[in-house]
Amino acid sequence: MPQPFQTRPLTVNTKKSADYCLNCSNEATIEALFDLEGAVLVRKYCNDCLLSAKYEES
Ligand SMILES: [Zn+2]
Repeated sequence: MPQPFQTRPLTVNTKKSADYCLNCSNEATIEALFDLEGAVLVRKYCNDCLLSAKYEES
């Protein structure tokens, strides 16, 4: 997993159901944007999993 080039807090939209972390079943709080060879990939994580994603060696 490459490191995200940008992260931003996930704004809670009360009209929608909650988004869940990609790695676990916790509610997602952060969006991480990955630049994959020109394509931007957005993944949602909880705080704990964002740290793992951020510091994992690619
Ligand atoms: Zn998580």
